[in-house]
Amino acid sequence: MVADIHAHLDYFSNEELKKIIERAKKEGIEIIITNSTDIKSCKKSLEISKKYDIVRLAVGLYPNDNLNINDFDEFKKFVLENQKEIFAIGEIGMDFKESKNEGSQELIFKKQLELAQELNLPVIIHSRKAEKEVLKILEDYKNLKKILHCFSGKFKLIEEAKKQGCYFSIPANINRSEHFKKMVKEISMERILLETDSPFLPPTKGETNEPANVLKTVKTISAIWGISYDETKNILEDNFRKVFE
Ligand SMILES: [Zn+2]
Repeated sequence: MVADIHAHLDYFSNEELKKIIERAKKEGIEIIITNSTDIKSCKKSLEISKKYDIVRLAVGLYPNDNLNINDFDEFKKFVLENQKEIFAIGEIGMDFKESKNEGSQELIFKKQLELAQELNLPVIIHSRKAEKEVLKILEDYKNLKKILHCFSGKFKLIEEAKKQGCYFSIPANINRSEHFKKMVKEISMERILLETDSPFLPPTKGETNEPANVLKTVKTISAIWGISYDETKNILEDNFRKVFE
């Protein structure tokens, strides 16, 4: 079984999505977790997860300049109303590169972590240029299952995240990233998951990314680990089950 734990399927048109899901199924992808970024995206992603059997729903408020505490109240209501359909909380976190509202980002991130804790759901975390601050906050959420998506922090911080028991989801552009190759080499096998961040971060620059591309990552990782493709797939499947089942 292969899973893409981080895609943004609501970015695709209905027509594109139909083809993307067909291709993913044909390639043997069994689960795609579609991550949401705001209330509108949560609602659209819920519909997508109901329409396609291989899609699971992650809901979250992504850190950007428009984040507002009132959004959290509406978000929480949505989560509680649709709890049965929700597989994870994501994409949440902090981003100090694109946005300057550090205070509200931190507040809303913490509120979403608390909600995940209450509902016993794994969290999928964005931490661009805020890796250190995100890890500091996560220290207070020891029992949560935490996945750092596309983690680009320094290796000292990767060590810290390992100590905290975080999982790392590796994007499909690993084939052109020394950072992610090094991460796969240095992090123990049982902490690695797969993601695409579709439609972003394609393995070939300039293309639109899609979930079927996680298979390319399995190939790259198996070469780094020096084991067969099938063994790699089995390890990644076990990891997925540990977090999500
Ligand atoms: Zn994302």
